[in-house]
Amino acid sequence: MPIKFDQAQAIKVRHRKYDEARSTLWQTYSPPESPVFEYGKGAKLYSEEGREYFDFVTGIAVNSFGHAHPHLVQALTLQANELWHVSNLYRIPTAERLASRLCERSFADRAFFCNSGTEAIEAGIKAMRRYHYNKGNRERYRVIGFEGSFHGRSIAALAAAGNKSHCDGFIPFDYGFSQIPWQDMDAMIKAAKDSNTAGFIIEPIQGEGGIRCASDSFLQKLRSICDEHDLLLMADEVQCGIGRSGHLFAHEKSATKPDIMSLAKGLGGGFPVGACLVTEDVSVAMGLGSHGSTFGGNPLAMAVGNAVLDLTFAPELLPDVMRKGALFSNHLKALASQYPSIISDVSGRGLMIGVSCIIPNIELVNSLRERGLLVGKSGANMIRFLPPLNVTDDEIFHALDVLKNTLADLSR
Ligand code: PLP
Repeated sequence: MPIKFDQAQAIKVRHRKYDEARSTLWQTYSPPESPVFEYGKGAKLYSEEGREYFDFVTGIAVNSFGHAHPHLVQALTLQANELWHVSNLYRIPTAERLASRLCERSFADRAFFCNSGTEAIEAGIKAMRRYHYNKGNRERYRVIGFEGSFHGRSIAALAAAGNKSHCDGFIPFDYGFSQIPWQDMDAMIKAAKDSNTAGFIIEPIQGEGGIRCASDSFLQKLRSICDEHDLLLMADEVQCGIGRSGHLFAHEKSATKPDIMSLAKGLGGGFPVGACLVTEDVSVAMGLGSHGSTFGGNPLAMAVGNAVLDLTFAPELLPDVMRKGALFSNHLKALASQYPSIISDVSGRGLMIGVSCIIPNIELVNSLRERGLLVGKSGANMIRFLPPLNVTDDEIFHALDVLKNTLADLSR
């Protein structure tokens, strides 16, 4: 007997009272009671009440081509009707294809697939340490991160970023990881000279810690210091990668190449996927049995990942992201000078834009949401705009209008 999908039960669950439904979830998040979203189309989301919202946070830089993009829906549904999972016990041709397409367009020679940004970070940290271990440099295990970073919530990812409030109660702080101040050349040189150092991990554009772009000269210096001391450079492009900055990968602007790069978020366009890309030299250390994932590289994620690349590799996409990013930022800067008691600096690159707030950022996030515009928080007191990469100029102008009206109201 086929099991019937219980539509009535599904609807009942959806309309459960908020507190009751919430009580069995870990209390690690506190979403507002409403809106609850029912569906999305492009840059718009629709709530159960049928209200339209402009999605300028995209599930934290994930829905890179908005909601329900026909090409992604088609890729996923075609694959869902064929094959969901076989594990890495067998070849997965779409994973081989996605790996080769990512490698062709980057510094990398090999890719490992997983399911999230954190896992992509873990894979990279393991590869960094194994590289030295394999060469007989067993004392080179220390991973140097930068203050203000965010690399995920696993133990190693927490330790690499060293954010005390995230680490509290979970780990001893020295776990073979250290942090140095953001873009501090002297601290970087000192860390590179330490005989325990294995390499550096950096977000070329910090996301959670405030939208901070590493300068080209800093990334170039970091690369040359790594070369000088045979250290590895790992780029965390989980948030800023896959076109978000207007470059395919944010580090490309500085004409530097990392040895390891973590990707996730935008690569799946809304479907969970992560990838860790490495050079041949690094991949040699990660031999048979050194790492693995049951779900990593599964056919569903690979189908969507390839479809995301079809859209990302369209020749007009990246120049358009740059153009729209500049358009958006310039108007935001004009608003910042018009309302200096509410917002100040505008930072970021491409469609990864932060606006520093004078008032508590949560007030602005909530006021914008009430007016139908979804944005994120970032850093100490910033709001973050991460619209889909295919957002239209009209949608950007609509978001600017909502912001302008909100700022006008708040300044009264
Ligand atoms: N690295 C960066 C730069 C991130 O922004 C995030 C998540 O926000 C992560 C790593 C962790 O990714 P995930 O939440 O998919 O595990």
